[in-house]
Amino acid sequence: MANWSNQPSVYVTCSTCGRRFLLDETETPPFCSERCQLIDLGRWLDEENGLPFEGDPGDTPVEYREED
Ligand SMILES: [Zn+2]
Repeated sequence: MANWSNQPSVYVTCSTCGRRFLLDETETPPFCSERCQLIDLGRWLDEENGLPFEGDPGDTPVEYREED
């Protein structure tokens, strides 16, 4: 039962979209995807510049693929 010879399953929550995902699933921790990483980066860049955030259409943070 407690055989964790493989990588442990570490769940993290994406700060952009709030999705919980396995750390092993992402190449851009602590974000679930490169998209979310870019969104987050764009957010604080916009704060720096005082500009409103403009995402690409279909790039909403709440939208993500269900990989099943
Ligand atoms: Zn995300």
